[in-house]
Amino acid sequence: MQDMSCIFCRIVRGEIPSRKVYEDDDVLAFHDINPLAPVHFLVVPKKHIASMMDLGEQHRDVFGRIMVLAPRLAGQQGAKDGFRLIVNTGRVGRQEVNHVHLHIIGGGEPLGAMLPRPKA
Ligand code: AMP
Ligand code: ZN
Repeated sequence: MQDMSCIFCRIVRGEIPSRKVYEDDDVLAFHDINPLAPVHFLVVPKKHIASMMDLGEQHRDVFGRIMVLAPRLAGQQGAKDGFRLIVNTGRVGRQEVNHVHLHIIGGGEPLGAMLPRPKA
């Protein structure tokens, strides 16, 4: 259910403080500690799931709820004109915290390119 050493499980358990955006029985959203834009928060399932690569049919409900919640919370946080949703996944996706999380980033001027293009 929970991983004792996982930083986001520790945030879910209240062992590490976070600035909460939203909480219910299954989902927690909190501000990123190192924001990249005026609005930058994370949405996580409370149950430990390492990455998107570990999602299965049993996660359909909680992930469906997270996807419906994310735009509502983005608007509440001030990202009125859109935002970017990023889920870094695994080594290639440069995921650093191995508890699946959505980044919601926006709230200011349009963001940079999705990915920098390699120089020709
Ligand atoms: P990722 O590369 O997608 O795994 O990103 C992990 C994100 O978690 C980074 O944007 C970090 O700034 C953020 N982060 C790490 N520790 C904390 C924390 N204690 N509270 C809030 N955000 C955190
Ligand atoms: Zn975890």
